[in-house]
Amino acid sequence: MSAQVSRIAEIEAIPLRAAPVDPSDLDGSVETIVVRITDEDGRQGIGEADAPSRIVRELVLMDDLFDWSRGLRNALLGADPFEIPALHRTLYEATIYHGRRGLGIHALSAVDIALHDLVGRQLGRPAYQLLGGARREAITPYATIWPGGVKGRTIDQMMEAIAAQLRRSLELGYRAVKMEVVFGDLVSDRELVECVHEGRRLIGEDIVLAVDFGYRWRDWRAALWTLDRVEDCDIFFAEATLQHDDLAGHAKLAERVKTRVAGAEFAATVHECREWLERGRVDVLQPDVNRCGGLTELRRIADQAALHGALVVPHGWKTGITAAAERHFQAATENAPFVEFLVPELYASPLRAELVRPEPDVRDGTIHLPTEPGLGVELVEEAVTKYRVD
Ligand code: MG
Repeated sequence: MSAQVSRIAEIEAIPLRAAPVDPSDLDGSVETIVVRITDEDGRQGIGEADAPSRIVRELVLMDDLFDWSRGLRNALLGADPFEIPALHRTLYEATIYHGRRGLGIHALSAVDIALHDLVGRQLGRPAYQLLGGARREAITPYATIWPGGVKGRTIDQMMEAIAAQLRRSLELGYRAVKMEVVFGDLVSDRELVECVHEGRRLIGEDIVLAVDFGYRWRDWRAALWTLDRVEDCDIFFAEATLQHDDLAGHAKLAERVKTRVAGAEFAATVHECREWLERGRVDVLQPDVNRCGGLTELRRIADQAALHGALVVPHGWKTGITAAAERHFQAATENAPFVEFLVPELYASPLRAELVRPEPDVRDGTIHLPTEPGLGVELVEEAVTKYRVD
């Protein structure tokens, strides 16, 4: 098969926001920034970043300042999109003065996802084939159970909300769930142990259960106390136990508990994830494709994790673009047993529900490998018009 070179002709950065925004909650899917790349033949690829949309837009569209501080759009125009890892390196170096971690990498993530979509469409092949090809037979999402912030509710009311979402997830066919027990001062650690046991009782023994503790502890021994007492709940991983930057604490915890310790959801680049593996000693890395550097970087992170005997189960709480990108990542990755899934039927998240089509079918807890070119989802123009904020 020979493909004609079709160079990059345009790059757009489109900020979208759905009302109402609630700064006291933890829902990052209320806003997004879509990067759309068009080639000379009019084909388009889309990506997104989970970071403040106006700032990412500026990082994409900004004027070049000097050779290490360029706008991503300027650095991409006229390029052949096909050699994505080389292009990723070029963009990293063209933005390294201002962008080498954090927001700069978030912006690069959106571009990299869009390049995978575009090149897949140029070749007529699903994006996971650009990541090395299928390493599994189906996608296995886990449904995140997020009852929302406490906001004056009692623990019984919180657990009722969790129970309702757990029931709905099982009805929808999910076989893996993650319970968010982000209760703060509403419960003691001893009461929290009961909540986790209640979660396991509600779903039975056959469903995979992960738990997100929402950065509850600053003392690894307190985290250890709790994890020891929920060992019989067969938790697949314990997420966000200690503070994100407390790698020494994570290492001490991971050494002592039987449960897999997970972290790194805010991490950008393979370099930060390396710290989590070598100093933090975690069993599960959770970088998000839309923040860590895109599919190219997530591939490198997973390969590095494999050398450390670790798993990668990416964070994902944005629109259907991120959900699609993570399906392609998992399709091509052996040490990624699950990907996080914002289940559109469980949450009133307009951008997640409306921005792209089609939504994949979940049957018996799995999703078929993607077959359509690129990411396999199309931007819904009416939704773009409705939510656009620039
Ligand atoms: Mg989380």
